[in-house]
Amino acid sequence: MNRIPNFLKNSDGLLPAIIQDPITGKVLMQGYMNQEAFDHTIATKKVTFFSRSKQRLWTKGETTENYLNLVDYKIDCDGDSILIKATPDGPTCHTGDDTCWQESNTGKVMFIDHLTKIIKDRKNNPTDTSYTASLFKKGINKVAQKVGEEAVEIVIEAKDDNKDLFLGEAADLLYHYLVLIEAKDYTLDEVLEVLIQRHQAK
Ligand code: AMP
Ligand code: ZN
Ligand code: ZN
Ligand code: ZN
Repeated sequence: MNRIPNFLKNSDGLLPAIIQDPITGKVLMQGYMNQEAFDHTIATKKVTFFSRSKQRLWTKGETTENYLNLVDYKIDCDGDSILIKATPDGPTCHTGDDTCWQESNTGKVMFIDHLTKIIKDRKNNPTDTSYTASLFKKGINKVAQKVGEEAVEIVIEAKDDNKDLFLGEAADLLYHYLVLIEAKDYTLDEVLEVLIQRHQAK
């Protein structure tokens, strides 16, 4: 299913490897891999580059212990670029920043995608004892009712000035809304498609 990287594409045997956080979607850093670095990454699940300055294999985190833990990888269309999904143990950049591009705190919206996958998992695991699984077992009407309750709660908090309470209810509403979409066997993508089409119609 995965394509194979073609390290012969470049005369130095190196391909760029782009490291992305699978939860936030943030691009963390970019380095180079040769075949050995790639194989080492797969075998140890710790992202390992060929460092051009050090002229040796470099496991990111080898001194700082800020390792990048391999989750998945993809090779691009023509085999000359590697996309690595990896979870960082700490700041990825040696400057202490999360990413090498000093991005501000963007990317949290990607967490919705991660949460959606967890919610789907709970639905497909009826033996799960989690709150989410129990919601699915109670059925669509009950889930829809919960969305209604949370909507009322955010209306109440909107009248006050307590930020923490408002954000809490906003989170409750968003979570139950995602559960309802999943209970209906629809996807957030389909909802977004409606919004995109409306936007284009203007
Ligand atoms: P580390 O691999 O995190 O233990 O860091 C060891 C050394 O690798 C640091 O002192 C830096 O010289 C270099 N280094 C660490 N992280 C990066 C990075 N994201 N990009 C470039 N060089 C790095
Ligand atoms: Zn390419
Ligand atoms: Zn950096
Ligand atoms: Zn609530």
